[in-house]
Amino acid sequence: MIAVKSRSELELMKKAGEITATALKLVEEAIKPGVTTGELNQIAEEYVLSLGAVPLFKGVECPVSGGLDFPGTLCVSVNEEIIHGIPGLRQLKDGDIISVDMGVSYEGFCGDAARTFPVGTVSEEALRLIQVTRQCFFEGMKAAVKGNRIVDISRAVQQHAQKNGFSVVREYVGHGIGRELWEAPQIPNYVTLQRGPRLEPGMTLAIEPMINQGVYDIRILNDKWTVVTADGKLSAHYENTIAVTEDEPFILTKLRGEVF
Ligand code: MG
Repeated sequence: MIAVKSRSELELMKKAGEITATALKLVEEAIKPGVTTGELNQIAEEYVLSLGAVPLFKGVECPVSGGLDFPGTLCVSVNEEIIHGIPGLRQLKDGDIISVDMGVSYEGFCGDAARTFPVGTVSEEALRLIQVTRQCFFEGMKAAVKGNRIVDISRAVQQHAQKNGFSVVREYVGHGIGRELWEAPQIPNYVTLQRGPRLEPGMTLAIEPMINQGVYDIRILNDKWTVVTADGKLSAHYENTIAVTEDEPFILTKLRGEVF
C-alpha cells in the first residue's frame, strides 16, 4: 500500500524538503581540505534543530548485528565509501570526494536527499563520476511519471550509469517516503524481475542512485555501518525526494527558489 499525498500534504513535504536541501547547501559551503566530517555533521545538525526539525538518521538501529545505533545527523562517505559513513575526526583532503546524505522530519513529513561534493581539486574521473551520478537521478526522475512503473525508473538510472562505464550498487535502493522515512515501494537502481507498482500522482519517492567507478560489489567495514566498494574505487551518491504528478514530476528537496 503506497500512500498518495494530497496537495496540502505535498506542501508540508516541500517544507521538510527545503530544510533538507538547505542543510546540505550549508555543508557544501563548509567543505574544504582540513575540515572534519564531524564538523560538517555539526553544521547540519545545528541548522536542522534550530528550525525544530528532527534529524532522522540519528539513533537508527544498525542493520548489522552488534553495531551501535547511528550517531550522526549526516551520513558522510568519503572516496571508496558508498553510504552510511559515520561523521567524526576524519579530515578531508584535497582531491577527496564526499557523499553527504541526510533525512529530516518536519511537521509530520520527511525529506531525504544526498549529494556528492568534490574537496578542493579532484581528478577528472572523480568529477565525471559525480556528474554522471547526478544525471542518473535526473534520468530516473524523468521516468517517474503517471502510468510508468518503478522498473522504468530503475532502467533509466542503470542505463545512464552503464553507458558511462560505471556500475550500480545492488544492495541498497531508493524508497517511498512520506510520514515515514522508509516507505514502500523499494526503488532499485537496476532492473530486477519485479516491475514494481504503477506510479500515480501524489506518490512521493526518494530516488537515490549509488554509482561505482569500478565493480558494483560492496563490503561493510568493522564499524558495522560504513559501506565501501569491494575494489576500493570511488563511489558517488545523489538523491532527492520527488513527487509524481499529473504532469512532470517535481523535486521536493530543493532550496527556496532553486531551479534544476
Ligand atoms: Mg534515502
